[in-house]
Amino acid sequence: MNTVAPRSDSLTDGMHMLIDALRLNDVDTIYGVVGIPITDLARLAQASGIRYIGFRHESAAGHAAAVAGFLTKKPGVLLTVSGPGFLNGMVAAANATVNCFPLVHIAGSSDRSTVDMQRGDYEELDQMAAAKPFVKASFRINRVQDIGRGVARAIRTAASGRPGGVYLDVPASVLTETMDAVAAGDTLWRVADPAPALHPAAERITDALTLLAGARQPLIVLGKGAAYAQADDTIRAFIEQTGIPFLPMSMAKGLLPDGHPSSVAAARSLALRKADVVLLVGARLNWLLAQGEAPHWSPSAQFIQVDIDPSEFDSNQPIAVPLAGDIGSVMDDLVAALDQHPVTCPQLWQIELGEKRRSNDATMAARLAEDPHPMGFYNALRSVRDVLADRLEVYVVNEGANTLDIGRNVLDMSVPRHRLDCGTWGVMGIGLGYAIAAAVESGKPVVAIEGDSAFGFSGMEVETICRYQLPIVVVVLNNGGVYRGDDTDPTGTDPAPTVLSEGAHHEQVMTAFGGTGYHVTTPAELRTALGQALDAGRPALIDCALDVAAGTESGHLTNLNPRSAVPLSPIS
Ligand code: ADP
Repeated sequence: MNTVAPRSDSLTDGMHMLIDALRLNDVDTIYGVVGIPITDLARLAQASGIRYIGFRHESAAGHAAAVAGFLTKKPGVLLTVSGPGFLNGMVAAANATVNCFPLVHIAGSSDRSTVDMQRGDYEELDQMAAAKPFVKASFRINRVQDIGRGVARAIRTAASGRPGGVYLDVPASVLTETMDAVAAGDTLWRVADPAPALHPAAERITDALTLLAGARQPLIVLGKGAAYAQADDTIRAFIEQTGIPFLPMSMAKGLLPDGHPSSVAAARSLALRKADVVLLVGARLNWLLAQGEAPHWSPSAQFIQVDIDPSEFDSNQPIAVPLAGDIGSVMDDLVAALDQHPVTCPQLWQIELGEKRRSNDATMAARLAEDPHPMGFYNALRSVRDVLADRLEVYVVNEGANTLDIGRNVLDMSVPRHRLDCGTWGVMGIGLGYAIAAAVESGKPVVAIEGDSAFGFSGMEVETICRYQLPIVVVVLNNGGVYRGDDTDPTGTDPAPTVLSEGAHHEQVMTAFGGTGYHVTTPAELRTALGQALDAGRPALIDCALDVAAGTESGHLTNLNPRSAVPLSPIS
């Protein structure tokens, strides 16, 4: 029931108010899948000038919205139907939250009075309650006059502090509820400065520089929080003025070019093992950094951590100097204080890391020079690397097991925020959603390098790529299996659990929807096909026939994969 007194002759409704509130907050793109009760909402968004990108599955749409948030620093918006569509989208909302990407997931929901009494409504689910464990916050708009507040609250919560996913539940009855149009306008507002700058105390800056100045083997670790912060110049200034070596986490690659003299990506193990003072910039000491533990790290290493979320400090190791603030402000403060508290990296440490880097580079070059036939991961990825070497504007999406692990090492990045991959959860299924958002948000070409198993999780989005005619080239490294394709069922009955269809032609998925398909069997063919596809700027898929025996089970995560203590033999 509308509680606001009429102030004009015209009425508006919840759908119009929701779109108006989103536009007022600069939302220019919505990613989603339509259905009851949000189909008209998507139509209205489009009519209002918001770009609506329709997907084939909500998880892919949600991954797209999340990575749009990462790329733009504005919450991406995901629109889903109720019940199962909401749940599919929740996978992406949870992944966004874990990865610290700002996302607002809006879903329509069924009639409250029926759902709350569990009387069995169409797609009945208490979505607000279901979302809570997976996102930063979960809100429901129960009255049409709260739509502006709900949108503002969702955007503020997603973008401020540690970014993350927010769920916004909008019952169908609120979408159609009417209200006086003038009074409705007064209930909407624009969020001012969604993520305000936050500086740490000056003493902490001094503490950090003092600790770094006394270090014999200092190291800077750049995480995807540093990439997200868009503080590229000040981060570079700090690294170049101090000469401290830096290690980019995978999605921070390109923040400074991988070829930068201070990059120790190619001497990672040595840098971690011997660093005595470590400055973590937007990187958590989670499993991706071995929780900061020996033997990967020196047991006496001291950590300085820059993070927007103070509760991150001490989550794994004692943080000697917590620098709570946004990375742009903190790094500005650090650079500004260098005059008074100079830091110079000891040359011996630079030389030691430089030598290790050169020897590891030589090992990699030798590996890339091998040319097995059928192709393996290294010689296939070498071709991708060669083609991308002078196409720095191309976004790289990368998922799979071996495809990811080897791709991360082989493919150099030179431009910030141009590498998008499985991230904190190591999740599969982000590939085509991330690729679509990168193309939509940037208008630039994208190469999505996918393991054949990983591709399957979002493969139907090839149709989305073709429908919107996006400049995306999907490269499927096809070894016919999860990890690899040469396992057998001991009973001889079925394909083994890790086996997929050998000799599959994934390019036919692309040609089915009007894109260009290539099937290649040699690195030279791959190089030619990728060059041609990128020049054409149209949807394309290159299926690369790899040796079914290429690859390692679980890629670089073999140690995380429990293996049966006794031999796996047929059980009768
Ligand atoms: P990676 O996986 O690359 O190591 P993580 O996702 O583990 O990176 O860490 C990112 C960290 O960055 C999170 O702890 C998050 O709170 C932090 N962060 C995100 N954005 C900012 C920002 N603008 N300023 C400061 N810290 C940020």
